[in-house]
Amino acid sequence: MAIYDPKNRPAAAYDTHAHLNEDNFWHDVPAYWARAQEFQINEVNVVGYDQVGNERALAIAHEFENVHAIIGFQPEDVASMTDEAFAQLEEDAQDPEVVGLGEMGLDYHWPDNPSSTVQKAALNRQLELARELHLPVTIHSRDAFEDTYELLAANSIDQFGGVMHSFSGGPADVKPFLDLGMYIGFSGMVTFKKASEIREALKIVPLDRILVETDAPFLAPTPMRGKQNEPMYVRYTVQKIADILGLSYDELANITTENAHRLWLNK
Ligand SMILES: [Zn+2]
Repeated sequence: MAIYDPKNRPAAAYDTHAHLNEDNFWHDVPAYWARAQEFQINEVNVVGYDQVGNERALAIAHEFENVHAIIGFQPEDVASMTDEAFAQLEEDAQDPEVVGLGEMGLDYHWPDNPSSTVQKAALNRQLELARELHLPVTIHSRDAFEDTYELLAANSIDQFGGVMHSFSGGPADVKPFLDLGMYIGFSGMVTFKKASEIREALKIVPLDRILVETDAPFLAPTPMRGKQNEPMYVRYTVQKIADILGLSYDELANITTENAHRLWLNK
């Protein structure tokens, strides 16, 4: 792994998925955002997951330039997506700082999560809204690739686009989502020693479909594994992916930033 030196003014990178709305960051967002920019992490998507998280994501996006909001209900919180909460989501989704909807999806890993029937209904409702508003989506999928694929395909995801965030599968898992036109988001997991399947998946993703993300405060990349993750650490993930693909840090940062601009900012 090459040695990264911020003084070399590396190319700017875009952390496409961070939870600066979590309590870990919420009272100190300016400090975390400043640290990120010291390392040329110059754009961040703050991703909501429930009603409070969505309101905070919007507030942060309004306060800081180049920080954007993605709002929605994640699988474990869909029970709180009442008709009233959904109406609020519909209204907030029209805010110009909102670049996408999510995170939403299916998570069959945790036995305490709502049933698959409830999760699928909530995902479907949010996908319909995304299609109506033509907003790209951030998809969380854990132990649920088949059902996720079916719902995305049934909702014509190719018409509004999205990302499989913090992708955790192998090459056979990634292929169907590429066929749907989706982007693939790689988090710190791609740096983990045992994650060879994810690295094999990475190798078959076209360069113009790769996004990088932290999923902060979770999944800090090696060599920060076990610490609280934050946007400035996305640089380790950029470097690792560049090394795997035989590219320089700058090349990979530029490619993934362009991809993020195309998907989230329509530019
Ligand atoms: Zn997340």
